[in-house]
Amino acid sequence: MKAFGSEKLNIFPFSYRRHDQFTVKEGKLVKYKGHKSFSMQQLSIRAKHTQSRRQISPVANGMINNEDGGLLLIGVQENGLIHGLMLSKSQQEHLVTNIIDTCDRLRPKVPRHFYEINFIQVKLTNSKAKEEKTYLSDETNIPHLFRTTKLCWCDYQAITSINLGFLHKCWIIELTIHSLSHSDLQMIRYI
Ligand SMILES: [Zn+2]
Repeated sequence: MKAFGSEKLNIFPFSYRRHDQFTVKEGKLVKYKGHKSFSMQQLSIRAKHTQSRRQISPVANGMINNEDGGLLLIGVQENGLIHGLMLSKSQQEHLVTNIIDTCDRLRPKVPRHFYEINFIQVKLTNSKAKEEKTYLSDETNIPHLFRTTKLCWCDYQAITSINLGFLHKCWIIELTIHSLSHSDLQMIRYI
């Protein structure tokens, strides 16, 4: 487990299989998102115009304002189909930091203990892919680039890595917004 700042990546010890499907329908408490654009600034002009993609933060914000909290699963299509997002460790850190950055900028600011960010690996069903190797060092303190449609250094690093044939693992990102009673929301682990 690698720490960055005061954070560490929370990785669950179990995994999902790609193309399995959650049977729980989307509702007030559960939302699926197939992409990781958390803030509006990350959406391309085209995406904003066509509304083909909506940023995640309003959904999270709605759950924060809902006293029952909620569960947002990123890397899952709207119909519950598990796809996963291929992310390097740096990209995982980027995502966590980006979520925190967005929550910090909401007014009122959302305290860190209101939510949890976890990663669950998605195993490819017919994977002939090479296992992830630490080809490019993830150990760097370069700040990630937020609030822009531009790619961050961690994305370029991941692309270079993939082009060289080193695939990263696929993940579902589970963002749990705690209920106001602060008791943990029952998480969906069964499909
Ligand atoms: Zn980054």
